[in-house]
Amino acid sequence: MSMKTRLSWWVYLVIGLGIFGYQWWSQRPTHQPDFQFDGPAIVIHGGAGVITRENMTPAMETLVRTSLERVLDSGYAALARGESRMDVVVRVLGMLESDSLFNAGIGAVVTAEGQAELDASVMDGETKQAGAVAGLQHILHPAALAHEVMMHSDHVFLVGAGAEAFAQERGMGLVPNDTFLTHRRHAQYAAWAEQHKRGTVGVVVRDAQGHLAAGTSTGGMMGKRWGRVGDVPVLGAGTYADDAGAAISCTGHGEYFIREAVAYQVNAQMIWGQKNLAEAAHYTLFEVLNADAGQGGLIGLDAEGHAVMTFNSPGMYRGAKGVEVSSKTGVPTRYVGIYGE
Ligand code: ASP
Repeated sequence: MSMKTRLSWWVYLVIGLGIFGYQWWSQRPTHQPDFQFDGPAIVIHGGAGVITRENMTPAMETLVRTSLERVLDSGYAALARGESRMDVVVRVLGMLESDSLFNAGIGAVVTAEGQAELDASVMDGETKQAGAVAGLQHILHPAALAHEVMMHSDHVFLVGAGAEAFAQERGMGLVPNDTFLTHRRHAQYAAWAEQHKRGTVGVVVRDAQGHLAAGTSTGGMMGKRWGRVGDVPVLGAGTYADDAGAAISCTGHGEYFIREAVAYQVNAQMIWGQKNLAEAAHYTLFEVLNADAGQGGLIGLDAEGHAVMTFNSPGMYRGAKGVEVSSKTGVPTRYVGIYGE
């Protein structure tokens, strides 16, 4: 065998091993708990990204866990006492927007020019009604404004100054942009935010009647270009809800989620691709989104109460609460996760 032939065999072997390795990696089990809830249920996320034990302090971990637990308890209690699913979506996103730990509302990341520009959307799975807002600079609770657009305008998607004028018509006040910029005020947070450039918040709920709703709110990507809009307010990309499929809220590198219509794609994989929610979520994240380039995750709930919290990034802040179908006691299970485990 000539030197040249031997070399090309080595090249084939390396390429073959590379392809095999990628397929094995992309199909590896994610070891996420598999919940099926009976009755009202809620799943939340607080963003996905390079979230690992090594770059987390115990104090920060406790803060995040406590916040996610508080939000789950409040959202679940509201659903259990019969509050409407859309009100619960807005309430939960409002709590997360007020919490500077997350990249939504107060504590949002900033554009290259140092401004907060906020995006949000909400969608109802029974009626398919939806509202979305983008490029907000002066609205404390973008998800609440998205809900106002859904309920009180003839439109689905309002942006920038027009959205803020509509907010004022609806009686919502404007706040100065630096209200959101906690990282400027707290050096510790600045260092943390640099490492954790993600932290979008999202929620999916199932009410006692089995109807679904979803919502997502974000400051976008750190250092983004002025005017950039990510996947979060784009219905079908960052948020989608359909009683016939699932309620989905995404987090991750928005450009990839827009191009692959990730939230709608999970629904389509369920409705047309005959996959269950877990398979559809896994397929969309690990097969469709390039696992290296399109990093992020999603949460989902279907009408039968199946829940997913799937991500291809090292970690995702996430949690779920509801009474499991398998429960003998009827006591709700509350789960909170941070790392890939
Ligand atoms: N998806 C968001 C965006 O691209 C960011 C994130 O989820 O971290 O705007």
